[in-house]
Amino acid sequence: MSQKMLKKGISLLLVSAFVLSPGVSAANRLEELNKKKEETQTQIKEKHSNIENLSSEKDQLYSEIGTLDVEIEKVAGEIQESKKQIDSLKASIEAAQKEIEELKESIAKREEEFKKRLETMYINSKTGYAEALFGTENVDEFLSKATMMSYISNYDKDILNDLKHDKITLDVKESELQGEKTAAEIAQRNLEEKSGELERAATQKQNKMDALEGMLSTSQEEVDVLEEQASRIDGEIESEKKAIAEAKAKAAREAYARAQAKEKAEREARAEKEAKAAQEKSKTKETKEQKPLAENTPPASMGSGSLGWPVPSSHNLTSYYGYRVYPFGGYDFHMGVDIAALSGAAIAASADGIITYAAPMGTYGNLVKLRHFDGKETYYAHCSGFNVSLGQKVSKGQTIAFIGSTGNSTGPHLHYEVRVGGSHTNPLNYIN
Ligand SMILES: [Zn+2]
Repeated sequence: MSQKMLKKGISLLLVSAFVLSPGVSAANRLEELNKKKEETQTQIKEKHSNIENLSSEKDQLYSEIGTLDVEIEKVAGEIQESKKQIDSLKASIEAAQKEIEELKESIAKREEEFKKRLETMYINSKTGYAEALFGTENVDEFLSKATMMSYISNYDKDILNDLKHDKITLDVKESELQGEKTAAEIAQRNLEEKSGELERAATQKQNKMDALEGMLSTSQEEVDVLEEQASRIDGEIESEKKAIAEAKAKAAREAYARAQAKEKAEREARAEKEAKAAQEKSKTKETKEQKPLAENTPPASMGSGSLGWPVPSSHNLTSYYGYRVYPFGGYDFHMGVDIAALSGAAIAASADGIITYAAPMGTYGNLVKLRHFDGKETYYAHCSGFNVSLGQKVSKGQTIAFIGSTGNSTGPHLHYEVRVGGSHTNPLNYIN
């Protein structure tokens, strides 16, 4: 049975004992490790949010590059159109130029012919032109001939003029075409510049994306390192916890050993003192009053090792007197011994005495207190029922109560205490 108040006190005592023991540095280390782990987890969280930001930036860039690619494609199409237009303008210009050349030739040819004709007419005028004119028989013929010549001359002039006019028209047309071609070439250059800009922008974005990917993989590597660190810290925390638990268990074992040693020393001192007192008494008695022996020496059943086993049906001791360490931390001081037995089994008085208590009492459950004639007291706890009443005299071996599991108990058993001078002590030192 655990005595909570005492347990708390003992725990505090043990904890304050640890403050001076090496266990404290383990506790400090554990605290440091926990802090370090928390810091590492914070860092991991920060890295994760950084990775998220980088990823969304990367997605944004990816879509921007996509948009740029579409635009580049569009401009490339426009450049292609422009080139076609320029080619067709070039062809038109070439055709015009060819026509102009042909016209030039025609004009030159006509001019040549015209010149020849005039020359011929001039030569004829020296030898026969005037004659041709003036050799006519009449004015009508003369006039007719003159008109004819003038007509021929005018005809040649008209043709030449027409040709020259055609050439001028073509010249204008060619210069217009040249103008259009120049404009188309400028437009194409602009498109090419635009395409260059778009490609540079796309390259920049691609470079930025590559840099982001580099940062992402660096961040991921950093997260991996931090996670490894966290798991290493976990391992260290586990081993520190183990070390602390071992130190606590060791301290508890040592405290128990010290308590036992102290009790043993006290018991021996007490026995020595009693022996001395008995000796003194017997001396006094021998020299003085000669009292009967029975009145001065305690009865055999009342001394050390004088108490009877309290559960005739079971010798199953499940818990001893003293410090108890629990597997998951915590301690208490067990003030008696526990004897497991079947519910309802008889509980026997350890020695003759008077019932001083037979009622429920807190964590003890149903409790019987029995005061013996040498001043010792025995406690019987967790009973299912009583077989005695307050003030009743009982003798050793008499059934006083029955095994139960009342109060703070996990199963039917007797919690049995022996008190000397009001203080609990190890019952096994007194039981036969
Ligand atoms: Zn107990």
